[in-house]
Amino acid sequence: MATSQHHDPTEYRTVRIPGSTDHAGQYLITVTLRWVCPTCGGPRGQLRPAISYDGSRRLAFDGWTNPCGHVDFYADVRAEAGP
Ligand SMILES: [Zn+2]
Repeated sequence: MATSQHHDPTEYRTVRIPGSTDHAGQYLITVTLRWVCPTCGGPRGQLRPAISYDGSRRLAFDGWTNPCGHVDFYADVRAEAGP
């Protein structure tokens, strides 16, 4: 196990997420986020590939699971990233 005591409190990550929840208009957007949970301020989870199936189309984007258990909904993430 790593024993790093130097966690950067303002780590940023750039992720690709679905730009819309509308089934007819799925596309990806790229947003840069502070990598902390907006609910508790803890670190967000490790990025992993996620895939959305929309009929015959397949979109690969970034997903993550926060170790604190709070769920980041993409709608909230889009709001956090700004217009
Ligand atoms: Zn949290």
